[in-house]
Amino acid sequence: MAEWKDPAVQRYAQSEKGKAARARAQKRYEASHPEETRARQRVRAARYHQSERGRLAAARSAAAKSEAQKHAYGVVRAALDSGRLTAEPCVVCGSAKTQAHHPNGYDPRHVLDVMWLCSLHHKRLHRGLVDGHTGLPDTAYR
Ligand SMILES: [Zn+2]
Ligand SMILES: [Zn+2]
Repeated sequence: MAEWKDPAVQRYAQSEKGKAARARAQKRYEASHPEETRARQRVRAARYHQSERGRLAAARSAAAKSEAQKHAYGVVRAALDSGRLTAEPCVVCGSAKTQAHHPNGYDPRHVLDVMWLCSLHHKRLHRGLVDGHTGLPDTAYR
């Protein structure tokens, strides 16, 4: 590009103002091309997941999640033992043999915020077949 060689243009392009203007233009472009933007983000995400860095990050977050999960189960078990929490029948089918599901995650604030589901419906819920918040089956389940 000929104009790129113009030192004034080049200075502008490298300035904070120029960078901000380019970022704004990029945002505008992405807003007006949502399909293309999503496709590009998917490619970038896939490439990141396949990279060494992406794999390490995924392993780290999985490890952190399973740590939090283990901790949460410990807290739930203790709460059950102390009577602070009572296991309830599966909210979907009423089966008495249930597992605690954490609809709001394993954050310490929500650790006793549990929903009771039998192993089948717990599995289904994690596959997205049961509404995560009410525990009621969605239409796909019915
Ligand atoms: Zn069930
Ligand atoms: Zn769960």
